[in-house]
Amino acid sequence: MTESTDPRTASEPPLRPGGGGSAAFEDERTPQDRILVGLSKIGTAIRSSAWTAAAPHRLNPTQGQILALLLRRPAGSGLTELAVQLGVKQPTASDSVATLETKGLVSKSPDPDDARRLLVTLTNEGRSLAGRLSTWPPELVETVDTLDAREQADLLRSLVTVVRAMADSGQIGPARACATCRYFEPDANADDDRPHYCHFAQASFGDLNLRLDCLDHEAPEVETP
Ligand code: SF4
Repeated sequence: MTESTDPRTASEPPLRPGGGGSAAFEDERTPQDRILVGLSKIGTAIRSSAWTAAAPHRLNPTQGQILALLLRRPAGSGLTELAVQLGVKQPTASDSVATLETKGLVSKSPDPDDARRLLVTLTNEGRSLAGRLSTWPPELVETVDTLDAREQADLLRSLVTVVRAMADSGQIGPARACATCRYFEPDANADDDRPHYCHFAQASFGDLNLRLDCLDHEAPEVETP
C-alpha cells in the first residue's frame, strides 16, 4: 500500500524516530486532524454496532436509525425531516420507509396540520423493535463510563458545541439541543453543579444533562424588524 501524503486523510503518517527530540512528532497534522481521526474511529465503532443490531431483523442501519428516530418523535415525522436528520437524500429515506412499511413497522398518514404532507409513525411492532434497537451496546456504554463525571461533562460540552456548529452550517439536520432552545438559560445560577436553567421544565441542571435531541426543544422566536 502506498503511503498517503495528503495531510487531510484519516491515516496518520509514520513517526521519524531518532534524535530524542520532538522532531519525531513533527508532521503536517494539526490538532483538528487528530480530533477528526479520533471521531472517525468512534464513528466506525458506532456504525459497526448499528449493523450488528439491525442485521438480525433484516434491516440496514438507515432503517434502524429511522425506527430509533421515530421513537423520539411520537407525533410522527415527515419524509423530508427524516432525510435531513439522517443526512441522507430524500429518495433514500423514502425507500427505507417503504421497506419498513412493508414489514409492518411504520405507517404513513396525512398530517392533521397539513393534508399535503405525510407523517410517518411507528406501528406497535415498530415501537417495540425501535425500543430494542435504541439501546446502546453495553461495551460502548462501559467505554464512556471509563471517563469520570468531570471528563464526561467536558466531552459533552465540546460535543454540544460541535453539533450546534454543524447544524448551524447545514452539515447535519437542525439540532434539538439546549444550546439552540428558547427555554435554555445558560449559567443562570451560581451553583457550579447546576448552573443552567430550563424554563420548560422549570429546573436547574448541569453540563451532564445538556440535551442534544430533546423532545421539548423549541427554536427561539425570530424577531421581526
Ligand atoms: S426544553 Fe429541552 S432542549 Fe430546551 S432547555 Fe429544556 S432540556 Fe434543553
